[in-house]
Amino acid sequence: MVKTRFAPSPTGHLHVGGARTALFSYYYAKRHGGTFVLRIEDTDFARSKKEYEDEILKSLKWLGVHWDEGPYKQSERQEQYRAAAQKLLNSGNAYKCYLTTEELEKMRAEAQAKTGQPRIRSPWRDRKPGASEEGKPFALRFRYPDVGQTVVQDGILGDVTFENSEGDDLIILRSDGTPTYQLSVVVDDLDMKITHVIRGDDHLNNTPKQLLMIKALGGTPPQYAHCPMILGPDKAKLSKRHGAVSVYMYAEEGFLPEALRNALIRLGWSHGDQELFSDEELKQLFSLEACGKSPSVFDVQKLSWINGEYLKQKSPQEFVSFVKESASLDLSSMLQEEGSKKLLETVQRSAHKAKDVPPLLSWYLGEVKVDPVCQEKILKETQKEWIVTVVSEFEKQVWNPDSAVEIFKNVATQYSLKMPQVAKAVRVLLTGNLQSPDMAIVVGALGKEKVLKRLRQFTA
Ligand code: GLU
Repeated sequence: MVKTRFAPSPTGHLHVGGARTALFSYYYAKRHGGTFVLRIEDTDFARSKKEYEDEILKSLKWLGVHWDEGPYKQSERQEQYRAAAQKLLNSGNAYKCYLTTEELEKMRAEAQAKTGQPRIRSPWRDRKPGASEEGKPFALRFRYPDVGQTVVQDGILGDVTFENSEGDDLIILRSDGTPTYQLSVVVDDLDMKITHVIRGDDHLNNTPKQLLMIKALGGTPPQYAHCPMILGPDKAKLSKRHGAVSVYMYAEEGFLPEALRNALIRLGWSHGDQELFSDEELKQLFSLEACGKSPSVFDVQKLSWINGEYLKQKSPQEFVSFVKESASLDLSSMLQEEGSKKLLETVQRSAHKAKDVPPLLSWYLGEVKVDPVCQEKILKETQKEWIVTVVSEFEKQVWNPDSAVEIFKNVATQYSLKMPQVAKAVRVLLTGNLQSPDMAIVVGALGKEKVLKRLRQFTA
């Protein structure tokens, strides 16, 4: 039975990298009919914050990552960690180290000068504490093997070999009695019967330590898989500069969870050249074998494209609800009437995210604000009598938005102009710029009264 976990530390927002790890772990479990566990690693009491924890849970729920067990919290499992530390002490796999901070720093500096590495073996490794140590503070260190190798059989990277002689006698219990990350993670993965640990490759160096501790505790190690890192489009390590902010910010920007989920799952995983995957498909297709060994690139442009594709798939009603929720803009009245419904459909096709919608519709929802460039290049050249004629042509005919282009042609011929000269002028007068939808759609959405009113404002 497959059991995976996502183990965020609540010391910051849930970022793109963490969310990718969560999705890989989640879909791996779902693909194999397994269980997905959420564990909050809040052992760093000074940096862990409740608000980050809440935001991580909220972001995961929004993304559609549903945990079957947990959230467990490491702060509530301190007894289990201390018991494991005691077990390692009893079996001789850990020892009490009475080095003071000053002694430690001195030894590290000496080791650095001698070997170029700050790595030390505490003298307490082979020394029994005597009467003078009675009551003095000590840290508990794991006795790292001196010889041999530890091989991480990684599900993505393949075998990675570590020399044991390069390992540190790492601290598992601090002198104040609190357990460290390395101990807690090992105890939790064992107690929670995790079968697959999928995480970022920044943890690869921790894995030999964790494997050795698991062995010393007599446990069966999970299978590890480390995901290569995520870069920005410029191939530098992904950072805020690339727009890689908290996952929840994407929700607030008006991205759809399915779009972000889709963009993230493709960071290192692929299935042929398919780009869009539904939740159901991912539950059937995701595999570690199809994960690449090289870094992947997160590109907000691509996310926008994906989001646009998902927006197109929504029904008009769904699109309206999404825009209301994400951009606080209620467009439900646009569904009532044929002309505005058509406009809404073109906006749905061209918007990449909810926040794109208000500016695309500002001319329709409010007053026309003429773009200064259009004012200079188009309206300055436009003669009032052309527009007066357009108005009278519109008035003459039975109201039919599709005849707009016909009218522009007639007026252009009458004044020996090119048709676009008339059409562009009318477009600017009705919408304020030249980036608006097809003329028949603009005219149809505004309706006769508004069209004539906007044109007459120019000729008055
Ligand atoms: N708490 C660790 C982190 O947020 C993850 C530990 C793990 O996945 O083993 O980086």
